[in-house]
Amino acid sequence: MRNSDSLPSVFFEKEQGFSLPTKEYSIPDIDISLQPIRSFKDLFHLKALTRIIRSPIVKNIFSARVINLSSIESLKNARRSLEDVYFRDYETSIIHIDEMHSINVDLSYEIRELKKDTYYLEHGEDYFIDYISKLYNKFDQHVTKGLEFLDNLHFNCFITDRDGTTNNYCGHYRSSIQPVYNAVFLSRFATLCTDNPIFITSAPLKNFGIIDVSVNPDSVFVYAGSKGREFLDIDLTEHRAYIDPAKQVKFDELAVKVGELEKSPDFEKFFYVGSGLQLKFGQLTIARQDVTHSIPEQESASLLQNVTDIVRGIDPDGSVFRILDTGKDIEVILTIDGQNGAKDFDKGDGLKFIDSRINLRLDRGPHLVCGDTASDIPMLEAVLEYTDDVYAIFVTKDAELAKRVVQICPNTLIVPSPDILLTILGVAALTIKRKKGRKAPGIFL
Ligand SMILES: [Mg+2]
Repeated sequence: MRNSDSLPSVFFEKEQGFSLPTKEYSIPDIDISLQPIRSFKDLFHLKALTRIIRSPIVKNIFSARVINLSSIESLKNARRSLEDVYFRDYETSIIHIDEMHSINVDLSYEIRELKKDTYYLEHGEDYFIDYISKLYNKFDQHVTKGLEFLDNLHFNCFITDRDGTTNNYCGHYRSSIQPVYNAVFLSRFATLCTDNPIFITSAPLKNFGIIDVSVNPDSVFVYAGSKGREFLDIDLTEHRAYIDPAKQVKFDELAVKVGELEKSPDFEKFFYVGSGLQLKFGQLTIARQDVTHSIPEQESASLLQNVTDIVRGIDPDGSVFRILDTGKDIEVILTIDGQNGAKDFDKGDGLKFIDSRINLRLDRGPHLVCGDTASDIPMLEAVLEYTDDVYAIFVTKDAELAKRVVQICPNTLIVPSPDILLTILGVAALTIKRKKGRKAPGIFL
């Protein structure tokens, strides 16, 4: 694999030269002159760029500032540059990294969501909703039913999963940047219709985690990663569940040593395929294969051997770490002593940890819980331990899961896609009776 020392020369950001304290609202002008993507670094820089543009756009919208047309042009340029990569090998969407290596990168999520964003910004919300309504069966019926379901309620807690629930699924976590329309709909609902909006995801909080892929304005949501074991509160204070400090030191050492593998040309690719490297609370995950098996088995086995050697170097007697190899991911898990032996930490435990730190008054409903898989059920069950005044919306086409959720929580609505959930929430926030509540700084609603 070739090493790209320089950042891609494809983009430059123009200084706008304002002397007013409005720098954080400034949307970078992204200009492109199409050039080949030479490495994974180039590719992921290009993807990260879409967050750099979207975040200030959302901030401007929520501060009642009108964005300029060149911002939309920048979003379009980001999309065009991704399309240039995507269409290089149209049949397979394979990117050739060098003569020996190629990798299948699916950029369809980014391209699709950028198209939606530019449509939203160019045509406005009514036409946008009309546009996405054509992408789904019975869209109008689902949204109307959803609005009746929410019944103009103001919720105490709004506890939601992200991937597959409020965000369309994306093959690579690093690519799953939140779209502008998504942030506007969600943050509007969170600000106007709820007191405690909380994301709980199994992905990490940071490095690369939920805060790196989100573009909601600051201080709207509490972001919880690693199923709630670590979270960032509204005041941007970070909280972490207890972990034995001696074990944490070893974990940090492990993270540094595994992270150093990225510098090696033999191992760099593993940081960009599938899960990449994820540093969760008490767990490190690194991909050794992706869904399309684009990594030769010998190279994949070599990474496993290297990671195993690093782990054994830090923990010779195997008392601190456990290695779990799924074939696609290598998971190195910190052993944790439970009260009644080992117990899997779930999102219900995560919610209780968050409550112990920031007092959510869980006995006071109504609460709204949103999810899309069985791993989201524990947070619904946890809330129901405090009150029956709970509403759930699950995004699923799985009849068995839907049945299970309805059994647990009778006030449940099932919808087939994240975009339908987003539209329900975004529109509900327009019609709700305004209640004096918490507002994030800079939110002009
Ligand atoms: Mg999910």
